[in-house]
Amino acid sequence: MADVQFTDVRKSFGAFPVIKGVDIEIADGEFVILVGPSGCGKSTLLRMLAGLENISGGEISIGGKVVNTLPPKERDIAMVFQNYALYPHMTVEQNMAFSLMLNKAPKEEADKRVKYAAGILGLDKLLERYPRQLSGGQRQRVAMGRAIVRDPKVFLFDEPLSNLDAKLRVAMRAEIKELHQRLKTTTVYVTHDQIEAMTMADKIVVMHDGVVEQIGSPLELYDRPANLFVAGFIGSPSMNMIKGKLDPQDRNRFIATDGTVLPVANAPAEAVGCDLVYGLRPEYITLDAGGMPVEIVVIEPTGYETHLIVRLGGSDANCVFRERINARPGETLNVSIDAAHVHLFDVETGRRLT
Ligand code: ATP
Repeated sequence: MADVQFTDVRKSFGAFPVIKGVDIEIADGEFVILVGPSGCGKSTLLRMLAGLENISGGEISIGGKVVNTLPPKERDIAMVFQNYALYPHMTVEQNMAFSLMLNKAPKEEADKRVKYAAGILGLDKLLERYPRQLSGGQRQRVAMGRAIVRDPKVFLFDEPLSNLDAKLRVAMRAEIKELHQRLKTTTVYVTHDQIEAMTMADKIVVMHDGVVEQIGSPLELYDRPANLFVAGFIGSPSMNMIKGKLDPQDRNRFIATDGTVLPVANAPAEAVGCDLVYGLRPEYITLDAGGMPVEIVVIEPTGYETHLIVRLGGSDANCVFRERINARPGETLNVSIDAAHVHLFDVETGRRLT
């Protein structure tokens, strides 16, 4: 079993705390993605798991064994870095076999493992090449191959796709996910890209400023964000956020700061009287000839769908329609809001109330 546990893990650089008490449970075989904005501490957490950074407090365990002071090579993990870290003077085959040679694996066994990994990753025909003779995507595959040959208990990935162009990134996302489905090795993956997290992870850990904001499946985070930070971070285009308060006479009416009345369902009594943010995902705004008029600010046809920014409740709001719309900025559209999917957040605490 190679489950991974972080228990009240802390890290300071000098007097500066960057990880402030993190608890994460990762089940055997799970694909977990740590996501958050730059500087939130996700790479530091991964490096502590790898043994590349010491731990200031708390406990990290792999397969039930506390590894806090265990050197990296005794942790039975393999890490794929952002810059791939390939040896330029070695061929693809030598790069992949290198760690096995260091560990004095028999040549025959090493060959077998390299062939197996090369087969999975489509590198069979490139084994004699040097890194400089490979494309970015191929280098990325060699870096993964090097991790696979070691057959580790846990794979660690630190922003492995950030040096690839957008199209290749999408293709590699699918490859890494497929690889995980095939090998079923526990995987911890760091990215700042929420789309990568949403599309690949079994479970996402959203971090911010050294703390965990929320842990859940991609759709749990999307449908039930715990707070304003997660709501704003997960989803693209992002959730619309409109400030205002509930109508004290009727909890089903939200009154935006500009006086616009917007529909709400299931607002809890505790929300009455609070300063609130009305959170609305773009897809829950739909075209409706009998609905409320909104002014178009920006209109972007993508072919398949149309993305718009409209003025709603005194804010700019994103919406996405699965049709072509023949209109210009300054003109008006009529829309409806699906009140059942509206969230309310308490401005003071950031917490979601419904
Ligand atoms: P990014 O996406 O930009 O890589 P991150 O979420 O991975 O960000 P970390 O690299 O873990 O963030 O850094 C977390 C914080 O720790 C940052 O404020 C960073 O400046 C600080 N930090 C990281 N390494 C060191 C170090 N060796 N010495 C001092 N401070 C550090």
